[in-house]
Amino acid sequence: MSTKKPRGRQFFANPGPTNIPDSVLRAMDRPTIDFHDPDFREVFDSCFAGVKRVLGTKQHLFMYTGSGHAAWEATLTNLLSPGDAILIAESGYFSDEWAKMAKALGLDARTVAADWRHGVDIDAIKAALLADTAHEIRAVCVVHNETATGMYIPLPAVRAAIDAAGHPALFLADTISSLGSLEFRMDEWGIDGVVGGSQKGLMLPTGMSFTGVSDKAMEVHAKAKLARYYFDWTVMLGRNPQSFVGTIPVSFFYGLQESLRLLEEETLPEVIARHHRLGEAVRRAVQVWAGNDGPRLFCTNPTRFSDSVTGVLMPEGHDADALRRTARHRFNVSLGGGLGKLGGKVFRIGHMGDLNEPMILGTLATVELSMRVNNIPHGKGGVDAAVEWLASGP
Ligand code: PLP
Repeated sequence: MSTKKPRGRQFFANPGPTNIPDSVLRAMDRPTIDFHDPDFREVFDSCFAGVKRVLGTKQHLFMYTGSGHAAWEATLTNLLSPGDAILIAESGYFSDEWAKMAKALGLDARTVAADWRHGVDIDAIKAALLADTAHEIRAVCVVHNETATGMYIPLPAVRAAIDAAGHPALFLADTISSLGSLEFRMDEWGIDGVVGGSQKGLMLPTGMSFTGVSDKAMEVHAKAKLARYYFDWTVMLGRNPQSFVGTIPVSFFYGLQESLRLLEEETLPEVIARHHRLGEAVRRAVQVWAGNDGPRLFCTNPTRFSDSVTGVLMPEGHDADALRRTARHRFNVSLGGGLGKLGGKVFRIGHMGDLNEPMILGTLATVELSMRVNNIPHGKGGVDAAVEWLASGP
């Protein structure tokens, strides 16, 4: 492996954190301001309203200094009591991690098992709820977009399953790798708790996360007894402004104000359409590479393809991390690795956030280059297929 430093700008094709637009970086490059200053309050209020618009909610919002795990923990501890049962739809590494956290917090985390490549059967969620005649299950937890595999779960179908089962459980969704990338509507889709983070579709550095909360969930919160303080929504409601128990990360808010401006200037429907266009370009390339026993799409269910990240499964006997090292060290393209049991078997192409066609094509071409360097068998013409798809679009 060459020790020379690659030149040129790094192509960052990770599925989170993601590229931060220059204008967001510039917006954050400002002197500190007192978070009680009226000038800051204006910024805070506009960001608070903006995040609610992106969530599609007129209900409640709480924000935290902390990565996505903070919002996961806040959501569970504010809504549940020791020993409560929750139902988690298995999607991959991140649903497993959320379940692990729930158990560590003293919850009875039950899983609807699923094949990570095909995706959870929504009827199995309904069946688990129907079987729970005593209504022990307090919340149904779903990772909207499983970042570890490149598959999404249709949340309206899960809502319909909960309703069809006549079950009163709260509906909690992790939108960490879908918000600002895939369609999401908290109020319209009847979601009670929405976990979101800063470093993916919102195009910010890692370190801020939040929860959208329904009126129904706020009622449940009043009786929830899990220990909490820093994340306690009731403590937050006593603060001014009503979020953040500690010091408010003001620099983040300058960045958030700009990222919200960018999203709304492009318009959310256009942002979602762009993610679909770019995601489909990646999938078309990978489908060609799969020829000649090459790397293939990890997700085998076309109705669940994620438009923000694609997991690529390596052929037997070939190491995904060796390919990633070539791409990163020789060509300055950073790809995501396989998580948990997918380590070394899968690499991931992130296509979310501040991204355009040349960035995607550069990444795909570099994957092809790295496959040739590493003698990985693959079908030829993946980039051509992506170009063809992108040329056929608007
Ligand atoms: N949920 C999903 C779907 C994620 O992709 C991630 C991180 O990538 C997390 C939760 C955890 O968030 P964080 O790493 O910001 O704590």
